[in-house]
Amino acid sequence: MPTSPSRSRYRAAALLLVLAALTGCAPAPGSTGPSAPLGPDDGFIESGEHVSPFADDLPAIANLDPALREAMQRAAQDAIADGFDFVVTSGWRSERYQQSLFDDAVRDYGSVEEARRWVAPADVSSHVTGNAVDIGFTDADSWLSQHGADYGLCQTYANEMWHFELATTPGGECPAQRNDPS
Ligand SMILES: [Zn+2]
Repeated sequence: MPTSPSRSRYRAAALLLVLAALTGCAPAPGSTGPSAPLGPDDGFIESGEHVSPFADDLPAIANLDPALREAMQRAAQDAIADGFDFVVTSGWRSERYQQSLFDDAVRDYGSVEEARRWVAPADVSSHVTGNAVDIGFTDADSWLSQHGADYGLCQTYANEMWHFELATTPGGECPAQRNDPS
């Protein structure tokens, strides 16, 4: 018996619904498509959340440049021994995570030029390459500003006291800070 036109239209519509449900609203687990929510695989750390500098199972820490990670962990060990709370507030970030931070900054600051003073675009961010780590709390930042060079760690931007990069040899001298990331 031949399928009636209305019945095949119904089938096509049902198939579209199924496809939409499969591909549209709920991204598959582990999906990293542009619409998937940011997660640990992007190095995403909830604002206000703190991560142990030794959490090597988290991509935010694991994907750091190995030399930076090692220097940061040696510094953390010593800072903690000195009684400081030493946490990571941001480490490695995926490109799309950095892009979303930059897009938010453009919205908040009203222009690309002003946003660039606070957040680097994805193609130039040292967080995306795994060469930067943001440290908390404020006391630990001050400790690291004083002692970081012993480990090769330097605060590279004057307006970001939490942002450190491997920028000298251990015991060397940190380069002059730039005003901001732009
Ligand atoms: Zn940073």
